[in-house]
Amino acid sequence: MNRRMKKRLLFIAAAASISTALWIGRAHRQDDVVMRFFDIGQGDAAMISRGRTQVLIDAGPDRAVLGKLGRAMPFFDRHIDLAVLTHPHADHFVGFIGVFERYQVDRLLVSGADNGSPDYRAFAAAAKAEGAEIIRANPGDKIEIGDATIEVLWASPRPQHGDLNDASVVFRLQAGGQAALFMGDAGENIERALLAAGIQLQAQILKVGHHGSRTATGADFLAAVRPEEAIVSVGKNTYGHPSFSALERLKAAGVRIRRTDRDGDITVKFRRPP
Ligand SMILES: [Zn+2]
Repeated sequence: MNRRMKKRLLFIAAAASISTALWIGRAHRQDDVVMRFFDIGQGDAAMISRGRTQVLIDAGPDRAVLGKLGRAMPFFDRHIDLAVLTHPHADHFVGFIGVFERYQVDRLLVSGADNGSPDYRAFAAAAKAEGAEIIRANPGDKIEIGDATIEVLWASPRPQHGDLNDASVVFRLQAGGQAALFMGDAGENIERALLAAGIQLQAQILKVGHHGSRTATGADFLAAVRPEEAIVSVGKNTYGHPSFSALERLKAAGVRIRRTDRDGDITVKFRRPP
């Protein structure tokens, strides 16, 4: 057994001992898997839906997400099957406070990392008041929406060097032979760890890590993912997102780039094969 295989087996064994499986909603086989990446300014808010099953991944920095959900979901539907907070930074979690007020959220998947700020405490209190089942994500966790699967590839309650971006819940959505990789704000450290573990990363759609920061979306990583389309969730900011270097790496890999700051809300569909 070579070293790479050994590492991979160790990784899987560690994950298998603690991973969970969840079945959510009642999707029909013929329902398309629809991904929406909302233009909510600088931050992340995206939704995966299939039939009447809805998964909200992050909720942006403010209440802007509520208008987006109101338009994306039927007016009578006030139900979110699963919310995912990738990591506890304000541009990802503050919007959830309004979401908890307006929608019934069944489950909340978190990295387990904490951010002691007053804003985060308000979020945690709202989550508790909502009564959502709070689940700590572990690599290997699987969430099934009919025959579509979300597999958690990474999540860390205690990221190295205390960098909360690297706590991010990273997952791969697979449906009918197509895949999308959601990176949260994970950077190159996590990309390297995923590559070293030999995990299947290939995905047609890449939700680019950390708003296109220069410290994410490495060339080796892109060579493993081989995306056709990259989505950058970004707004006006002072961090230099998206970075010239990350965009250049995407262009060099022949990837089509779509950005919420230029293209507005972005919708991607995985259609059922006929
Ligand atoms: Zn962010």
